[in-house]
Amino acid sequence: MATSASLNFPLPAHDADRMHRIDPQLTELILEYVTERLSLAETPIDGLGNRETMVQAMAGLIDENPKDPQAVLDVYIDHLADTVLSADSPRFYAFIPAAPTKASLLFDMVVSAASLQGCSWLEAAGAVMAENQALRVMADAAGMGPDAGGTFVSGGSAGNLSALVVARDSARNRRSEAGLPEARLRVVVSDQAHSSISNALNIVGMDALIVPTVDGRMDEVAIHSALALENDLSDVVAIVATAGTTNAGIIDDLDAASRCATDHGWWFHVDAAYGGAGMLVPELRQRYTGVESVDSIVMDPHKWWFAPFDSAALIYKDPHLAKSVHTQDASYLDVIHGNESELNPSDLAYHLTRRARGMALWFSLAVNGIAAYRDAVAHSINLAAYAADQIEEIPHFELIRRPDLSVVLFRRIGWKAQDYQAWSDELLRSQVAFVTSSGWQGETVGRLVFLHPSTTTKMVDEVLATMR
Ligand SMILES: *Cc1c(COP(=O)(O)O)cnc(C)c1O
Repeated sequence: MATSASLNFPLPAHDADRMHRIDPQLTELILEYVTERLSLAETPIDGLGNRETMVQAMAGLIDENPKDPQAVLDVYIDHLADTVLSADSPRFYAFIPAAPTKASLLFDMVVSAASLQGCSWLEAAGAVMAENQALRVMADAAGMGPDAGGTFVSGGSAGNLSALVVARDSARNRRSEAGLPEARLRVVVSDQAHSSISNALNIVGMDALIVPTVDGRMDEVAIHSALALENDLSDVVAIVATAGTTNAGIIDDLDAASRCATDHGWWFHVDAAYGGAGMLVPELRQRYTGVESVDSIVMDPHKWWFAPFDSAALIYKDPHLAKSVHTQDASYLDVIHGNESELNPSDLAYHLTRRARGMALWFSLAVNGIAAYRDAVAHSINLAAYAADQIEEIPHFELIRRPDLSVVLFRRIGWKAQDYQAWSDELLRSQVAFVTSSGWQGETVGRLVFLHPSTTTKMVDEVLATMR
C-alpha cells in the first residue's frame, strides 16, 4: 500500500487576525515617523551610541508576548536610531557616502509595502521591465550594445563575485573545448583593486596576477610591465580594471585594459561600483574610454546613483552567458524557465529570491530625469576640485594628487596617525562631520569624499578649518 496516513483530525482553531489587529494603528505610527524623517532638511550625522544603554533598553523586548508598538518604536528612536551613522548626511565624507533621493526612498517603501520580488518574468514581469529600463540607462552611460543586460544585486561585492564566476566558467568551457587540461586560473588585477576582488577570487578559486601601480592608476605601461615578467600567460582568463578606485577615485586606463583583454581573448570586467556615475558627465566621459567593450561591469546605485541600500547593478555584454552559468536547476523552478529567450534576473547572478531593489532607482530616474543626476554628480566633482584648490593654497596642507573624481587625498603636514584619529573623533563628537583617514603609500593621510548634492563649499571650509 502506497498511501500514507492522512491528516484526518480537525485543524485547531487559528486566530488569523492575531498578527494584524493592530495594523491600522501601526500604519499610522510608522508613516508618521517616516514622514518626519523624510522632511528633515539635513540628516544628522549621528553614530554616537552606548552599547550598555542599548542592552538595557532592549532587555526583554522579545519574548512570548506582544509589546506595545509605540514603546518598541520608541526603543528604536531613543536608543538605536542615533547610533547608526547617517551615510546620507551632507557632512559624511568617509568611506563612500550615500545620498538617496527622496523619490528613491519613497519608492523603496512601495517595493516593501507591496512585497515586490523581482525573480522572473513569470512572477514579476512589471518589476523586471522597470529594473531593465533603469539598467539600460546605466548600460547606455557605459556605451554598451543593445544586447547588454543584467540584474541588481545587493552590492558591488556580490556583483564582482557573480561576474567573476561567469568569467571563470566561460574560460573553463573554452579550455575544455580546446582540449586543454584543467588548471588553476588567474586574473589580472591592479594593486589598487577593491578588497572584494581578492575576496571573490578566493571564493571562486582563482589567483590574482597583480599589476603594481606607480601612482595608483593601472595604465598601459603598468600592465605590460607586469605581464612581461610572466613566462606563461596561458592560465590567465580575465582582466579587472577599476573605474574610480575606492581609496583615491582613480580611473584605470580602461582602453589599455580593454585592448589587452581583446589581444589575449580574456574576459574584461570593470569595477565601477563607486565611479560609474561619472560617465554621465560629458566632460569626464573620455576618461572612461574603453569601457564600451566590457564583458561585465558593476555600478552601485547605493553610492553615486543616489539610491538607497542595498543596490548594485551588474551588467553583462552577453547576459546569456551569465544565464548559462548562474541558472539554478531544480524541478520546482522548471516553470520559470519555460521560455529560453527570457532572461530572468534570478538567473544572472548568485542569488535566487531577490527584492525588486532596482525599482527605487527606476522611479527616481523617471521623476527626476537623467539631467538632474548628471548635475548632482558634477556637483560632487566640483566640490572635490574646490577642496583640492583650498588644500593647495593653505600652507599646512599638501594635496597628494588632483582628484579624478570626488575623492580628495591630502596631507596635514606634521600630523601622524593619532592626530588624524583625534581629529576624526572630535568631529564626530561635535557632529561637525564624519571623516576618516586613509593610507597612501604607507602613510596615514586625510581623505574626503564628496557625493551629497547638499554638501556646500562652506561645509568644506568648515572641515578644513578644523585641521589647523
Ligand atoms: C564600494 C566598492 C565595492 C564594494 O561594493 P559594496 O556595495 O560595498 O559591496 C567594490 N568596488 C569598488 C570600487 C567600490 O568602491
